[in-house]
Amino acid sequence: MTMNNKELIDLLRQSQHLDHDGYKQLLTSLTKEDEDYLYKNACAVREEVYGKDVYLRGLIEFSNYCKNNCFYCGIRKDNLKAERYRLTPGDIVACAEKGYQLGFRTVVLQSGEDMWFSDEMICEIVKAIKALHPDMAITLSIGEKEKDSYRKYFEAGAERYLLRQETSNPEHYRQLHPKELSIAHRKQCLQDLKDIGYQVGCGIMVGTPGQTYDHIIEDLIYMKDFNPHMVGIGPFIPHADTPFKDEPRGTLEDTLHLLGIIRLMLPHCLLPATTALGTIDPLGREKGLLAGANVVMPNLSPRGVRSKYMLYDGKICTGEEAAECHACMERRIKRTGYEVVEARGDYR
Ligand code: SAH
Repeated sequence: MTMNNKELIDLLRQSQHLDHDGYKQLLTSLTKEDEDYLYKNACAVREEVYGKDVYLRGLIEFSNYCKNNCFYCGIRKDNLKAERYRLTPGDIVACAEKGYQLGFRTVVLQSGEDMWFSDEMICEIVKAIKALHPDMAITLSIGEKEKDSYRKYFEAGAERYLLRQETSNPEHYRQLHPKELSIAHRKQCLQDLKDIGYQVGCGIMVGTPGQTYDHIIEDLIYMKDFNPHMVGIGPFIPHADTPFKDEPRGTLEDTLHLLGIIRLMLPHCLLPATTALGTIDPLGREKGLLAGANVVMPNLSPRGVRSKYMLYDGKICTGEEAAECHACMERRIKRTGYEVVEARGDYR
């Protein structure tokens, strides 16, 4: 007995999971009408949990030094053309302060894996921001660390951590990363973070070289099982100074389908409409919100360094000031019928 796509979407909404074949059908055969039905259901579920709220996270890209060599990433160690920078702890705290004044109640501190920042420095930065603004949530996105380090950051006051698994399939993982890196370790880090008590975000790039729909389904099944608080989903976009420079980017359609499916699969998750989505389509982030996303992460980095944190080509918002990005996002979100709220936006 086969189901049509609308029946499958109903079933996903009811039972919050499908089997492999169900996901495969949704990922590969949605008509325009089915898409509308998926997004309508995703938005209904998102509104049941979070109402019309959209949460903003101010992204501070504090260093583009990285010891790793991920094949897709523009700030990989072997990209000698990348002009390296790091903000000082004082700059980072000042940036967070500016974010607070603009109305952000979450900052995300993101960087390459830059060993110049010791655990103690990260803790000092977190504590300094918390001392200024106890009501501000701090999210870290600084890669794979020892469990002990994760624990120290948590004790200093960081409550959330973003670490995309990138792909759950071990062979595919090896196609995207040098051999020093493994999916087993990445997943161990995610588990450690959860065990410590962080709100944890995992996620994938859509359309990376070698990725098949079966790989994406493996990711869905992993995420259903891991039950993260946040899920970062964005299209892969090639960077000219990486081994993947000639590879095609991920598509808007696949990314939006996934956002809708993930919203139905994990109704409570915090789901950003990512900058990468906004890069492949001028209205990508708005479309993401209308497919089930409920978070946007405007750039808070100082203008002078923005164009240096180039993970992929064409990244948007590299010429603006923080205040402009905040105002622009507010305008854009209002037009979707959703509403920016000045709140930490914790997992419900
Ligand atoms: N060092 C941190 C932060 C990485 S940058 C970490 O390891 O988690 C944040 C995310 O950007 C990555 O997890 C990856 O999914 C995404 N990214 C990197 N290169 C990209 C590209 N070429 N296209 C789209 N997204 C990319």
